Amino acid sequence: MNDSSTATDRLVSVVVPCLNEVDNVPIMAAKLDEVLVGLCGSREHFEIIFVDDGSTDGTSQVLDELEDNHPAVAVVSFRRNFGKAAALHAGFERAQGDLVVTIDGDLQDDPKEIPSLLAKLDEGYDVVSGWKRDRKDPWTKKLPSKVFNLTLRSFSGIPLHDYNCGLKAYRREAVDELNLYGELHRYIPVLLHYEGFRVAEVPVKHHPRRFGQSKYGLERFTRGFLDMLTVILLTRYATRPLHAFGGVGLIVSAAGTGVLIYLTVLKLAYGIALGDRPLLLLGILMVLVGIQLVSTGLLGEMLARSQHARRGAYQVVERRQSPSERALQTLRL
Ligand code: UDP
Ligand code: MG
Repeated sequence: MNDSSTATDRLVSVVVPCLNEVDNVPIMAAKLDEVLVGLCGSREHFEIIFVDDGSTDGTSQVLDELEDNHPAVAVVSFRRNFGKAAALHAGFERAQGDLVVTIDGDLQDDPKEIPSLLAKLDEGYDVVSGWKRDRKDPWTKKLPSKVFNLTLRSFSGIPLHDYNCGLKAYRREAVDELNLYGELHRYIPVLLHYEGFRVAEVPVKHHPRRFGQSKYGLERFTRGFLDMLTVILLTRYATRPLHAFGGVGLIVSAAGTGVLIYLTVLKLAYGIALGDRPLLLLGILMVLVGIQLVSTGLLGEMLARSQHARRGAYQVVERRQSPSERALQTLRL
C-alpha cells in the first residue's frame, strides 16, 4: 500500500510533550517536518504541536522561535511542570486533526514510523500503539517496564507488549474520550479499550537518548504501579463491585456461620461452655466482616448504576456518512 495515500485529505496533528529537551526539539521539528511533508503532501495538511511542560532549560525559547518560523508548528506552554499526561491532554485539546499522533520529544521515538502507524489505523483501528521491541534504554528502566507490561497484560485483558510507548496514533473520536492526568498516560490503551475502541500495536524502532536526561525514576514508577490497581479496578471490574466484594463477603460470613454452628452444637449436645473460647470471637468477627463486605459491594453496585444512569453504560460509535449520503447532501445544498 502507498503510505502517502493514507493521510492526504485529512489533517494530521502531531503532539510532542517536552520537558527540558532544549537540544532535541529543533532536530525533532526538522525530522517531523520531513516525514509529514512526504506523507501529507503539503504543510496545510498537518500541524505539529509542541507542549512545553514547564521546562527550565531554554526549551520554551527554542519552541517560540520554531513557532515564529514554521507555519505548521504551534506551541502550548505550561507555567510549571504538570507531567506528561497533562501535557498530552493539553496537546489533544489544541489539536484540530482528524488523526492525532503522539511522539516523545527526546528523539528516542522515530518519526519515520508515523506512516506505518497511520496505515494500521486505516485497517480499521481507532488507536495504534508503538511497540519498542528492541528498547534502547538501560536495564534499570527495561526491567521494571517489563514487569509493568506483563502485569498489565495479565490483568487488563488486552494483549499488548508495550502499553506505554510514546508513539501512538489515534482517530479523533478516541482522543476526545481521553481525560488524562497524573500517570494515566501509561494506561491509554486500557482506558480506550474499555470505552469500546479498537486497539492495535505495531513494532517501532527505538533509539538511545543522545541529549538530556530521562525524567522517569523509581519514584514515578511506584506511583505508576499504584495507579495500575485503580485503572484495572475502574475499567475491568468497575461494573461488578457486588461480584468482587460480595463474593468474598459471602464466603467469609458463611465460614463464620459455620464456626458459630459448630460451637452451638458443642454447647447443646455436649454442654461445653463457650465463655472464654477465642473461636467464638473469631466466628462473630467473620460474620460481621462478611456482612460489611456484602454491604460495600451493594453500595458499589448502586454507585456504578447511578454513574451509568448519568453517563450511559455504553459508548455509541459516531455515525460516519456514507459517500452516497454525502453526495445527496451536496445535491440538496
Ligand atoms: N515529559 C514531559 N513531562 C514530564 C516528563 C516527561 O513532557 O513530566 C516528556 C519528555 O520530555 C519526553 C517524554 O515525555 O519527551 C518521555 O519522557 P522521558 O524520555 O523522560 O521518558 P523515558 O523515555 O525515559 O521513559
Ligand atoms: Mg525517552
